[in-house]
Amino acid sequence: MSFHAHLRCGAGCEGLLAPDEPVHLCPSCGGLLEVVHELAPLRERCPAEWTRLFDERTRRTAWPYGSGVWGKKEWVAPWVADENVVSMVEGGTSLLWAERYGRALGLGELWVKQCGNSHTGSFKDLGMTVLVSTVKQMIADGKPVRAVACASTGDTSASLAAYAAAAGIPAIVLLPRGQVTTAQLVQPLASGATVLALDTDFDGCMAAVRRLAADAGLYLANSMNALRLEGQKTVAIEIVQQFDWQVPDWVILPGGNLGNVSALGAGFELMRELGVTTREPRICVAQAAAANPLYEAYRRGWARVEPQVARPTAASAIRIGNPVSAARAVRALRRVDGLVEQASEAELADAAARADRTGLYACPHTGVAFAALEKLVARGVIGPRDRVVVLSTASALKFTELKVGYHEGTLADVPSPRHANRPIELSSDPAVISDAVRRALDTAAATAAATDAATRR
Ligand SMILES: *Cc1c(COP(=O)(O)O)cnc(C)c1O
Ligand SMILES: [Zn+2]
Repeated sequence: MSFHAHLRCGAGCEGLLAPDEPVHLCPSCGGLLEVVHELAPLRERCPAEWTRLFDERTRRTAWPYGSGVWGKKEWVAPWVADENVVSMVEGGTSLLWAERYGRALGLGELWVKQCGNSHTGSFKDLGMTVLVSTVKQMIADGKPVRAVACASTGDTSASLAAYAAAAGIPAIVLLPRGQVTTAQLVQPLASGATVLALDTDFDGCMAAVRRLAADAGLYLANSMNALRLEGQKTVAIEIVQQFDWQVPDWVILPGGNLGNVSALGAGFELMRELGVTTREPRICVAQAAAANPLYEAYRRGWARVEPQVARPTAASAIRIGNPVSAARAVRALRRVDGLVEQASEAELADAAARADRTGLYACPHTGVAFAALEKLVARGVIGPRDRVVVLSTASALKFTELKVGYHEGTLADVPSPRHANRPIELSSDPAVISDAVRRALDTAAATAAATDAATRR
């Protein structure tokens, strides 16, 4: 099969590797690899031909192109033969107009890209389909891969385990014991993965899996693996496609290991290089204040990203103190005049709950992004006419514990939740019930009036 994509050392070592070689780090310096696509062959199709091709494939059944990732296969992972693609029809998630929440903030165009509406409930599926498909291809070609392995804050392992199970490949996942939600723990268990719950944090699990992956036969599936970023970059392409190939002004996303922002930036860059678009959006990475190494680096004028010990946060998927993709994330952000914001536990929980009051049901990481958005609007960095996209990274249904704690008022870090809503417990007496409903409707009317007044301010 002929294709024009290679693996190259991100630090500049000589030489190119095939993307289906079972290596995930530079053989010379041990640094991160990146996938490079030769642009000349891709330029043989003009921009209008590409957009027509992608539009024709979207959400159809011709294998494997109905997937949001594989519909862009030539730009993503042309090295995988169609019969080795392991797809759960990932991508194609809704880009919804958050009209009421946006208006409450004074924005005409706030959009939410619902990446959590994916097979395992997070954007991780976009990258995992490319990685596991490539592994299936390696095994078909007789390369010595026995299993895939990852360290995870929850969503990576859920995704890896499901895709590996679909392909019949063994999966080994390392989780920080007691630091992932019940839903996230049961996902890899249900998929039959070997789950190791370690007495350490995510960064400790990462160090352990890197040692394991040095053994031949275990293929590392963390986002330091460049293949995942190729799948994840399709979210940028999909957003632009959903705006009829127009580029938004801003994209805001939560960041932990910083693979996703690197991938997002790569997607926008590729579209511009191929002439499909003429500009790129500004990007804001939102971090939890409890795990904010990128924010600290940004605040000090893009100083070096110093590793820190991440503290507990409800945004558990971004509780990462030593982000693997920091360097590529900084490169992407600086290219697009990007910036970094942070949110405290109360800010992220209140922002998620405020968005929920407009029907969104946001996960805590999306809450971090919403809190950052509110700050940027308040500072006038984002203006009322800007078209803003917030990447919602996971389904909030995985994070029920936080929602329950918020509404019950039992979160230690959120002593006075501003949007808490408790069940009204009553007898079944009809008079008592109708009285309670009357009072609830009066309160609702007063709240709506206050929201509308805030909008007009
Ligand atoms: C993985 C994850 C993130 C962070 O993505 P990075 O690539 O590690 O920056 C954010 N939100 C959720 C829900 C995630 O699962
Ligand atoms: Zn190198």
